[in-house]
Amino acid sequence: MKFNDFALSETILKAVKLMKFEAPTQVQESVMPLVLEGKDVIVRSQTGSGKTAAFAIPVCELVDWEENKPQALILTPTRELAIQVKDDVFHLGRFKRIKVSALYGRSPFRFQEKELKQKTHVVVGTPGRVMDHIERGTLDTSMLKYLVIDEADEMLKMGFFEQVEAILNELPSNRVTVVLSATMPDNIKKLCETQLNDPVLIEI
Ligand code: AMP
Repeated sequence: MKFNDFALSETILKAVKLMKFEAPTQVQESVMPLVLEGKDVIVRSQTGSGKTAAFAIPVCELVDWEENKPQALILTPTRELAIQVKDDVFHLGRFKRIKVSALYGRSPFRFQEKELKQKTHVVVGTPGRVMDHIERGTLDTSMLKYLVIDEADEMLKMGFFEQVEAILNELPSNRVTVVLSATMPDNIKKLCETQLNDPVLIEI
């Protein structure tokens, strides 16, 4: 398959080409059409499979440029992963002029707050800092339509699970949710059962 075979705009295809992605990886081939159609997806795959672009490409495609409030939230277990995902979203969304912000701890709150006051389509962040912004009213979740929980099993290992659940309770229920995890411990299974709407399971 080629990237051209998916329902993607010219601006996104141009960015994919510039990243030198010639053909979609297996996980991209399976996950992208589902997210583009608005389905909830559980993805069991390892890093290195191209999983980031598998959700970032559809998210970049689906966000409405005109809307100023955040439409997509991507939760990551670490600040390093948040920065990496932010970079990928930035590069994939560059020709659509997508604005992406990263929110993580050990970094000034006020700078992030200022950034969130401007147009932001996509927010990438670690659970603690994201919850801080929600509680302080600096992250408006009212227009969120897409939620990605990346490396869910790592979140669990690091003790962030309660925060993830608390964040989920703050989000509009009418949304598309993608959960990525290398393993499927019971807590994640349960979260998927309660929070996802008829999800499709993709195992690579
Ligand atoms: P990830 O699994 O998301 O961490 O991606 C692993 C690496 O594969 C990253 O360096 C990506 O830039 C790269 N990558 C992702 N998708 C493709 C693709 N379709 N073709 C070539 N490289 C890719």
